Amino acid sequence: MKLVILDRDGVINYDSPHFIKNPDEWKPIPGSLEAIALLNQSGFRVALATNQSGIGRGLFDMATLNAIHDKMHRALGQLGGRVDALFYCPHAAGANCDCRKPKSGMIEEIGRRFGIDIRTVYSVGDSLRDLQASAAHGAQCILVLTGKGEKTLIEGDLPENTWVCADLAEAAQRIIAHDNP
Ligand SMILES: [Mg+2]
Ligand SMILES: [Zn+2]
Repeated sequence: MKLVILDRDGVINYDSPHFIKNPDEWKPIPGSLEAIALLNQSGFRVALATNQSGIGRGLFDMATLNAIHDKMHRALGQLGGRVDALFYCPHAAGANCDCRKPKSGMIEEIGRRFGIDIRTVYSVGDSLRDLQASAAHGAQCILVLTGKGEKTLIEGDLPENTWVCADLAEAAQRIIAHDNP
C-alpha cells in the first residue's frame, strides 16, 4: 500500500488569512485535483490531515466543514480522483490537543487507520508545522510553494531532506518518479 498525506489549505485549495469558512470560499489551486487523480492512478491512496481551528473559534460549524468537503470530493470525483480519508483538528490553537499540527496525532491516526509505517509515506504541506508533524515519524516531507510555502521556505528550518516543489502537480510527479526509479 502506498500513501500520500496532504495538508489541505494552501496545497489543494487557495488559503485565506480569514479561514475557508464556506464552500464558496473553497477554490482549488489549478492542477491540484488533477495531481490527486494522477496519484490515485499511480496506485497511491491519499489522506488529508488539516488543522481547522475555525471550528474551535466558532467561525464555522461541522455541517459547513462537511459541505466544503462535499464540494472537494465532487470536484475530485469529476476528474476520477479521490481522497480516501480525511482527518481534521477542530481545536483552537490554545486547546493543547494532540491533533493540531505540528503535533503528530493525526499522522499517527492515519498510520493506524491504514496500517502503514509512516516512514514509507510522502507528506505534502505548505507550512513548517505540516512537515514537522510528519517528519516526527520519518515521512518523506515535501514543501509546496503555494499557499504559505514561499514564506515557509524563506523562514527555513525545514526537516532534513525535505523536497521543495512548486505546487502539488510537481510534487505528484516527483513522488511518482521516486516510486518508479
Ligand atoms: Mg496549509
Ligand atoms: Zn486538535
